[in-house]
Amino acid sequence: MSAGNHRLSQTLHPTILGADRQGIYGQSVDLVPLLTGRIPPARPQSVYVHTPFCFHKCHYCDFYSIVDTSDKQEEFVSRLSSELLNLQPFLAHRARTIFIGGGTPTLLSPHLWERFLPILAAVGLRADTEFSVEANPETVTRELLDILVAGGVNRLSIGAQSFNPRLLKTLERWHDPANVTRAVELARSAGVHNLSLDLIFAIPGQSLDDWHRDLEAALALRPTHLSCYALTFEPNTPLAVRLSTGQVRRLDEDLEAEMFLVTRERLRTAGYKAYEISNFAKPGYECHHNLAYWRNEDWLTAGPSASGHVAGLRWKNAPHLGRYLASQGLAPLSECDVPKPATRLAERLMMGLRLSEGIDSASVLADAELFGKAEVISATALECERAGHLHTENGRWTLSEASLLIADTIIGGLMRALDP
Ligand code: SF4
Repeated sequence: MSAGNHRLSQTLHPTILGADRQGIYGQSVDLVPLLTGRIPPARPQSVYVHTPFCFHKCHYCDFYSIVDTSDKQEEFVSRLSSELLNLQPFLAHRARTIFIGGGTPTLLSPHLWERFLPILAAVGLRADTEFSVEANPETVTRELLDILVAGGVNRLSIGAQSFNPRLLKTLERWHDPANVTRAVELARSAGVHNLSLDLIFAIPGQSLDDWHRDLEAALALRPTHLSCYALTFEPNTPLAVRLSTGQVRRLDEDLEAEMFLVTRERLRTAGYKAYEISNFAKPGYECHHNLAYWRNEDWLTAGPSASGHVAGLRWKNAPHLGRYLASQGLAPLSECDVPKPATRLAERLMMGLRLSEGIDSASVLADAELFGKAEVISATALECERAGHLHTENGRWTLSEASLLIADTIIGGLMRALDP
């Protein structure tokens, strides 16, 4: 549903892990002993749950989802429930954050939510859990919201993407923008006040004025949180095919950069803090679940194609509903790695420097020291600082505001300093 959350939760492996994996591959890997060896001392306190159904495939989407076969929903929820019960031994402290993403979680029938939420609550819910569910505006009903709230859900992340029907059509995103407003109002009336909206900019055919209008339409709904991502043409998506055949054109780079800057400025003046490059929150409403990813903390996972991380061990559940349904215990895996220290550190840099809080430089240098790279990373950071790309404050490295547009280049430079 949401570009941001999906990207975080599902693309860590291919994006970050390079050729130096100390991999454990194969579908027969048993995750249980691997996790048991790490817990304690690792104490995962976040859980991501992936629901794989959508009622239509948006053209920009490369996330694992299948066009709904309602007949599979019941079986899926039974399997998910048993998987969650199998995760319980690893959640001694229950969950500080739970995030149900997809796919389109709100496509699951209300009676299935009623069946599955008490199990999730028994496994992981605490009084203070940040419990988010991704929602498609078309599928939000008061009946469903009441069930979600009764089950402990206190945060809704609504995939608005754009309020412009023409641009939604370009994305082949099937919802009526009016339903975003309706979903927000319904959520508030049901008692959910922590509301996030996802928006996409740099859509083919979008003007700066179009983007201004989308931002204003989103702000008028007074969300507590906004995720604003530039459109990416993911390989093998219908949108990428339309790009390669000239049916759509990429937006001019300068225009995209201007949209990025306009976003930061407008949301800043509206009282939102850019706590991550693409994520903005009213004070106290940062998404703690996503912060766990960016801070390289531990999280458990359930559902096909979901990725998990505990004490350096990373894995991805197989993106295959049939295999998932046929399995028992924890989900079958498609990947399971213990990345080398250099890869792990590169990953920490890549995620941590996206945050406005930055990354603790002493811990980076200590980790780099383990494989003899402390000096070179320190020198590279100093170079970046001299060039005005990086600041050091209270022992933390942060990207300067002026360098955010070239964040990938700067972070890439630091990561390259870790190369053998
Ligand atoms: S709603 Fe669209 S973007 Fe979200 S998972 Fe489904 S197809 Fe992908």
